Amino acid sequence: PPDVEQLGRSTWTLLHSMTANYPEQPTVTQQTETKQFIGLFSKMYPCWVCADDFRTWMKQGNEPRVSNREEFGRWMCEAHNAVNEKLGKKSFDCNKWEERWRTGWKD
Ligand code: FAD
Repeated sequence: PPDVEQLGRSTWTLLHSMTANYPEQPTVTQQTETKQFIGLFSKMYPCWVCADDFRTWMKQGNEPRVSNREEFGRWMCEAHNAVNEKLGKKSFDCNKWEERWRTGWKD
């Protein structure tokens, strides 16, 4: 359905933008809260099959890596690639996550 796609595009924009603005040296509190956010997000994302699969993926050794911006950005890119793969879309080169979402390009 188109709203799952629209929701997905908007949500990835939010999630990748959050990683782009994540601190390079987060406090312990920021790391804890970020993990809590991802945990709650993965329960409340209003595409239930998407949310279930995302939680399953995290449990398979893919817990959020939030020790710094680079780690968190890469982890989010890998999460997005897991969905890309499931949907038969092209994998994104995670070396370029920051160029795409922080320093910016248009697509
Ligand atoms: P999107 O995948 O929305 O990507 C938007 C832009 O992000 C791309 O144009 C590209 O520039 C950039 N991008 C692409 N890959 C990456 C990456 N790995 N890292 C960084 N940037 C990248 N849809 C379903 O049908 N089934 C599901 O189970 C499902 N699960 C989802 C789970 C989550 C947590 C989220 C947020 C979305 C999910 N979606 C799911 C939606 C799906 O991922 C897409 O958003 C939707 O299909 C629209 O795809 P799109 O081709 O427009 O680009």
